[in-house]
Amino acid sequence: MKRHITLPSASIPVAREVDVLVIGGGASGIAAAIAAAKGGAQTMLVEQRGFLGGMGTVALVPAFCPFTDKRKPIIRGLGLQLMERMKQACEPEYREEYQETLDWVPIDPEVLKRVYDDAILESGVMPLYHTFVYDVVLSEDRRTVEGVVVVNKTGRSFIACRYIIDCSGDGDIAALAGVPFQKGGKAGELQPGSMCYLLANVDRPKFKRFLEESGDTGQLHKTVEQAIADGALPEGRKSISGLAWISDCLVGVNFGHVFGVDGTLAEDLTRGAIEGRRTAERQLQFFRRYVPGFEHAHMAASGEQLGIRETRRIEGDYILTVEDFLAARSFPDDIARNAYYIDIHLANSKSEMTFNHLPPGVSHGVPYRIMLPVGIDNLWVAGRCVSSDRAVQGSLRVMPNCFSMGQASGTAAALALRDGAGSRGISVAELQRRLLEQDVWLGEDCIPAEQQKEGSAP
Ligand SMILES: Cc1cc2nc3c(=O)[nH]c(=O)nc-3n(C[C@H](O)[C@H](O)[C@H](O)COP(=O)(O)OP(=O)(O)OC[C@H]3O[C@@H](n4cnc5c(N)ncnc54)[C@H](O)[C@@H]3O)c2cc1C
Repeated sequence: MKRHITLPSASIPVAREVDVLVIGGGASGIAAAIAAAKGGAQTMLVEQRGFLGGMGTVALVPAFCPFTDKRKPIIRGLGLQLMERMKQACEPEYREEYQETLDWVPIDPEVLKRVYDDAILESGVMPLYHTFVYDVVLSEDRRTVEGVVVVNKTGRSFIACRYIIDCSGDGDIAALAGVPFQKGGKAGELQPGSMCYLLANVDRPKFKRFLEESGDTGQLHKTVEQAIADGALPEGRKSISGLAWISDCLVGVNFGHVFGVDGTLAEDLTRGAIEGRRTAERQLQFFRRYVPGFEHAHMAASGEQLGIRETRRIEGDYILTVEDFLAARSFPDDIARNAYYIDIHLANSKSEMTFNHLPPGVSHGVPYRIMLPVGIDNLWVAGRCVSSDRAVQGSLRVMPNCFSMGQASGTAAALALRDGAGSRGISVAELQRRLLEQDVWLGEDCIPAEQQKEGSAP
């Protein structure tokens, strides 16, 4: 049993009172905050780092997953606008290459950080960076989050809110509020983390020639296998799935795994960061020695933290399941569509990765209810920790989906504010109409909930 101490009770200042408080500035939080502010709510976005972007910038995840179902864009709205804005802010060569690309668009993290800053400020959101939320205060009946306790360089303070959106990626706010959750698989296993990084001083034309001249699409895979056999790389992930070329001499890399890291534990994150950097250094030596075009590669940056794929899944009014995914099911309260495949990374170096694809042109609905944590009336959860089974989390977790859920939750919070309603009291039909007006795509057959035969929305 751990030793505990009791802190003296403290009086702390109320730093702010806002309509909508968004916690976490990753893809979901950015979209949630912008949508709430655009909907007329006085909105604050709290982020523990000194910049926005979540895994896409903090952990240097090198590319945006597909915005299409391989036939057409299905993630539209704010997420698509932000990605297009990043492209416009990149160098001319980058724009030329990726102008028409919607799937696997490489992330230039420094450009993206500035694009997110600007987008947040233009929409009227109040950002508060360098600030960590470590507690919540609930109403007497424990159904409402009245605000959060934060710590930052200024000290400890309280931020009061009428509505709150948990975009922490880990469901920190919902967990602190006592909402039940699941973490990982049946035996508690979690997808591994990866330390992503940027390599400068690489020669893309030479690398391309190497692949072309080998005449084998699996050449890189074989090179990795050879390096493992030589002992130059550890056992485990064989594919370098994410080589994202920002320019001909700069590439983002997502390769290799760090196992057994629970992203909600500081000790695990510490070990993960150290092990991740060691792995990245070993990979750098591999690239230099085995991969033509990488002979002079230079490690320009590694993630500020290990990339975390999976922690809590918060229990919501509905739990989206793999059956829903495979049946490409639609729901009366859909607020987005998803077509990204189920992508569950191996939990240890011997186990297999799981993939499950929907056919091109097919997507399933993402119902509003998966963002409503059970038992709390003024809280939404958006992003990789929404209410789903483990398999679906392996698909919903990617950034385009996080943007969609964020936009829907922020729009819903603004509606709730206008009506003085709880998260379950808003008109889902009006939410859907607003999302459609904001260029969100809800499927070919989407008829806002109130126009459906059965009448009222769930
Ligand atoms: C290695 C790896 C590779 C991936 N590859 C891709 C890919 O190629 N394409 C893709 O689209 N997706 C990819 N993903 C998935 C995707 O990046 C994440 O699942 C997604 O970014 C999650 O978004 P989010 O907004 O839910 O959370 P996050 O991006 O994790 O953002 C949460 C934010 O909340 C902040 N925060 C957390 N807790 C607190 C707190 N208590 N107080 C204050 N702030 C807090 C964090 O600092 C962070 O900025 C990958 C993920 C990993 C780890």
